[in-house]
Amino acid sequence: MNKQEYEAKINKTYNGAVKVISPYLNHHSSMKFHCSKCNTVFYNKAGYMLGKDHQKHICTMPYGTAHGERLLKVRSSKQNRTRKTRDISKRIYQMIIEDYTYKEIASEIKVNSVIIRDHFIAEGLIESNTNNP
Ligand SMILES: [Zn+2]
Repeated sequence: MNKQEYEAKINKTYNGAVKVISPYLNHHSSMKFHCSKCNTVFYNKAGYMLGKDHQKHICTMPYGTAHGERLLKVRSSKQNRTRKTRDISKRIYQMIIEDYTYKEIASEIKVNSVIIRDHFIAEGLIESNTNNP
């Protein structure tokens, strides 16, 4: 698939709402996208954007794990909380892309590193039996 074909597929899949920002390299590369529906810039793997439902972009939920669990739940009842949650979720995903360790991420966003570590394990980024507390 070339760049034009990929962008055409994204266009079709998201009804023109999602625009590709980064240059398309291959299905496994992490890319930056912009969704005009929820006005969010987010990162995802090129193939995931056209993959299973839980791997695709869902408005206000920029990130889902390989198992279809969303990293952080968004509450629609409280606008401020929603915005904050979305920003944190985006930040975590960005840091994963940038190869931060779970400890660095945890200290950066000031949460218990166990939460981030569990997420890394769920994603298969680290082994669950690691001796790295
Ligand atoms: Zn969206």
